[in-house]
Amino acid sequence: MKPRVLILAFIAVLAVAPLLLPAFEVTLLNYIGLYALVVLGLVLLTGVGGMTSFGQAAFVGLGAYTSAYLTTTAQLPGWLAWAGGSPWLALLLALVLTAVVALVLGALTLKLSGHYLPLGTIAWGISLYYLFGNLEGFGGQTGITDLPPITLFGLSLEKGEHVFYLIWAVLLAAVLITQNLLNSRQGRAIRALKGGQVMAESMGVNTFRAKLVIFVVAALFAALSGWLYAHTQRFVNPTPFGLNMGIDYLFMALIGGVGSVWGALLGAGVLTLLKQWLQDWLPLLMGSQGNYETIVFGLLIVLMMQRIPGGLWPLLVRYLPVAPVRRVPPAPADPLARRLPPTKGMLILEARQVTRRFGGLVANKEMDLAVHAGEILALIGPNGAGKSTLFNQLSGVDVPTSGEVLFLGQRINGVPSRQIAQCGMSRTFQHVKLLPAMSVLENVAIGAHLRASGSVLASFAHLERHEEARLLAEARQQLERVGLGGYLFEEAGSLALGQQRILEIARALCADPCLLLLDEPAAGLRHKEKQALAELLARLRDEGMAILLVEHDMDFVMNLADRITVMEFGQKIADGLPEAIQADPAVLQAYLGAE
Ligand code: ADP
Ligand code: MG
Repeated sequence: MKPRVLILAFIAVLAVAPLLLPAFEVTLLNYIGLYALVVLGLVLLTGVGGMTSFGQAAFVGLGAYTSAYLTTTAQLPGWLAWAGGSPWLALLLALVLTAVVALVLGALTLKLSGHYLPLGTIAWGISLYYLFGNLEGFGGQTGITDLPPITLFGLSLEKGEHVFYLIWAVLLAAVLITQNLLNSRQGRAIRALKGGQVMAESMGVNTFRAKLVIFVVAALFAALSGWLYAHTQRFVNPTPFGLNMGIDYLFMALIGGVGSVWGALLGAGVLTLLKQWLQDWLPLLMGSQGNYETIVFGLLIVLMMQRIPGGLWPLLVRYLPVAPVRRVPPAPADPLARRLPPTKGMLILEARQVTRRFGGLVANKEMDLAVHAGEILALIGPNGAGKSTLFNQLSGVDVPTSGEVLFLGQRINGVPSRQIAQCGMSRTFQHVKLLPAMSVLENVAIGAHLRASGSVLASFAHLERHEEARLLAEARQQLERVGLGGYLFEEAGSLALGQQRILEIARALCADPCLLLLDEPAAGLRHKEKQALAELLARLRDEGMAILLVEHDMDFVMNLADRITVMEFGQKIADGLPEAIQADPAVLQAYLGAE
């Protein structure tokens, strides 16, 4: 069966559910839908983006209270009067307000790292919760009552079985746009947040912005859920928007499986039903009323997290009757625009007296170096000589303690690596940096991030389809160029290490650079693969590319490089043509000494 058929079957079941189920079960399904919408945001934020938030319940409250206030207050301030009474207008304002609040809170908290981020979300989660209980006009702990029901096409959605359709339609739409977002250029940037931020920045991705985007989207889903909740219940009070509920949402996400959008639905469903059953059955089993269900519930959650840390969805998928999707390589498309190549021989990159200290250690001392268009410069030296350190300063990952780096005549000390990437510098890493669970094709497509402009909003509806096709066609073309055309849909992590290095070169080429920085590209390659790589690099040079490479393999370097710079103990000890370097006594001394 195709996944699409399964989804249609699921929708069909949903469509008849309210007609067949008793009212109480429909209410449960409504809650599951409302929770799942919040959890979907968490899948995006935590599962995909790697950021843990305990504060989502507060955004649910923000949506609920904004709408409750606007639709029940008799005398709204004049400037708000237009939004009074109608849940739909209130929704509009609730979403705008939530977006603003999320932008501010995100800007304040998303720069925190490690444990501080979740703690930060707890802090503002609690603050908002107390705000709901204390703000004038919000009714204190009693809350606000008599909210109007939502009306749609003239129909008042007063009954559970009616609002059911709205809740689930909104949820499924949210699932769809989330999936569309993740399968786009913006989505690849978002998926790189977990474990690939340095790489993504080097490819021109603004990772902070990507974090902010999913933070706001998750907050909007939560606020939407809050709005639906408020007008389904027809009253609001602060309790459901506190930290407890924030924790429950995280549980739902983890139990369902944070790796997939459907995990959100599963997690919300399983936890809601589990709670319900425990409440119904435990008192009967234990023969008395006590809050046993909370304890048993907690134990079950701990157990599930230990036994199935990836969540239930990956388990379930194995038993679903779904045929594996047959993926077709992207078709050729209009090539992406290319930058004007520099004229051969033009000075591209220059280091002037670059010094880098780590505390007392001088990793680079007064290093000079220049790379021209149409030239391969090799940087060699024993282990620990300071090559990678210099490399990082040239590419904006690190900043020199003193001295200057000039790229295309511009000083780039301290300029973020994504801006340098924009000017045409592209690099690979000594310790391969790719997203192991993502396909080879998509990994390489990240390299072309800056060559397209599709916005987040456009990706929600896949309006950037045409551009996306061009990006993927470019990625495929670069993969074929480096000889990895047969691996498009493999998981990048499953390639041999040598192939992963080649993948990084394809990714770098996707950026259409004028300067290529390669850190030990031939390490781990077999003889034949090295030859192929040397041919590729020679061809790129002949096309006018400037190439700087760090390499250990002497044969590889001597046959390929136009000039060689040799480093030892952070300093330049020789500089010149390969033949001269091979005969240089200082170089021989350094290498013999190192061995
Ligand atoms: P190479 O790439 O030539 O093998 P590196 O540039 O990696 O050498 O390292 C040069 C020296 O700088 C080494 O002694 C290394 O331990 C030190 N070094 C590199 N990065 C750091 C860092 N972030 N903090 C402290 N020392 C570092
Ligand atoms: Mg190194």
